[in-house]
Amino acid sequence: MSEVLTPTPAPAPLTQLSEDEELFRSTVRDFATENIAPLVRQMDEEQHFAPELIPRLFNLGLMGIEVPIEYGGSGGSFFESILAVEAISAVDPSIGVLVDVQNTLCVNALLRWGTEAQKRRILPRFAADLVGAYALSEASSGSDAFALQTRAEKRSDGYTLNGQKLWITNAREAGLFIVFATLDPAAGYKGITAFLVEKHTPGFSVGKKEDKLGIRASSTCEIILEDCQIPAENVLGEPGKGYKIAIETLNEGRIGIGAQMLGLAQGAWSCAAAYARERKQFGKAIADFQAVQFALAEMATEIEATRLLVYNAARLKDAKLPYVKEAAMAKYFSSQVAERVASQAVEVYGGYGFVKDYPVEKFYRDAKIGKIYEGTSNMQLATIGKLVLAG
Ligand SMILES: Cc1cc2nc3c(=O)[nH]c(=O)nc-3n(C[C@H](O)[C@H](O)[C@H](O)COP(=O)(O)OP(=O)(O)OC[C@H]3O[C@@H](n4cnc5c(N)ncnc54)[C@H](O)[C@@H]3O)c2cc1C
Repeated sequence: MSEVLTPTPAPAPLTQLSEDEELFRSTVRDFATENIAPLVRQMDEEQHFAPELIPRLFNLGLMGIEVPIEYGGSGGSFFESILAVEAISAVDPSIGVLVDVQNTLCVNALLRWGTEAQKRRILPRFAADLVGAYALSEASSGSDAFALQTRAEKRSDGYTLNGQKLWITNAREAGLFIVFATLDPAAGYKGITAFLVEKHTPGFSVGKKEDKLGIRASSTCEIILEDCQIPAENVLGEPGKGYKIAIETLNEGRIGIGAQMLGLAQGAWSCAAAYARERKQFGKAIADFQAVQFALAEMATEIEATRLLVYNAARLKDAKLPYVKEAAMAKYFSSQVAERVASQAVEVYGGYGFVKDYPVEKFYRDAKIGKIYEGTSNMQLATIGKLVLAG
């Protein structure tokens, strides 16, 4: 008798969410609509993150999504972090990046590279009240990140850090910084080491805050380290292995920026679609004109393609499958789509799109950063090119 084989179930469609994921996303969406939306314009104008939002983000479990329950976190997936960044960025990409840096860079780095003692000490705080920041870039090392100049000198009981970091997101709000410094500039990337630096460490200070084109509520500051004494137990990973931490955390972080740009594009589209249904010209809603419908249809198609790239990269990561190429593609493409969609949204609004009384000009300004941070578009293409041409 021949054996009857049970067919393997087909994988679920990428955009189909589990019940838990669906509930999580709708909770974050409601939170963003009720708590963030009323503050967006003021935060942008004042270039200031409304401080009352931070405890609310913690209370909802959005600052330690992947922190395991045993360390006081939400015990969620990387994919859920991506859903959160997307949903928040649809309302305000400035708040999206705070949640993104916390979850996809800082929590991830600790989970992956932290010692058990570091995890016990820091992860519960990441989940409860501690904002993290990730300090790699410097004035003269951006794309060439491993040319960094910040020095770490070994002492008997720890390290002394000296140098300056630039462009550090969350710097105003953060209590803990993952700082990359070199033990030996002559060793090139092999000298780079990651340190956990508490904000109140003597010799550590937050410097000038940048006056930016977009994501203005997100703080972007210089960091100054002057004879900053760091205990040996605050080395993250091994001395000289910081380059690996930087490469690997940024690979994951790029999916987060993809989610930020995806949310931004969705937010701009939703505003444009609602406006097109309401705005009347020539006696009918502008959404009744085929040219406007086609614009909205093209934007929606590009957003859907972006969502597939971002979700696929995130689900690959959760499945512990290779995802570096897909992450770079997601970041590269999403930043292009965000810029195009936000630009088109401004046009759908006509003159009203050009003024601050309506939300789309801000989405347009905010979109620009997607092509720059966590690796410029050229750096993403370099990664993609290397991987698609390998073998
Ligand atoms: C708002 C904001 C927030 C940021 N947040 C953080 C943060 O939290 N932590 C952090 O560490 N950094 C952060 N950054 C820094 C960011 O990651 C860098 O700005 C980015 O990596 C680019 O570096 P750069 O500005 O020095 O540009 P450069 O590296 O000087 O690049 C300038 C141009 O040259 C191109 N280029 C450079 N090298 C090559 C090459 N080999 N091939 C082709 N083209 C090349 C680039 O693509 C770009 O178009 C932030 C930056 C901004 C603006």
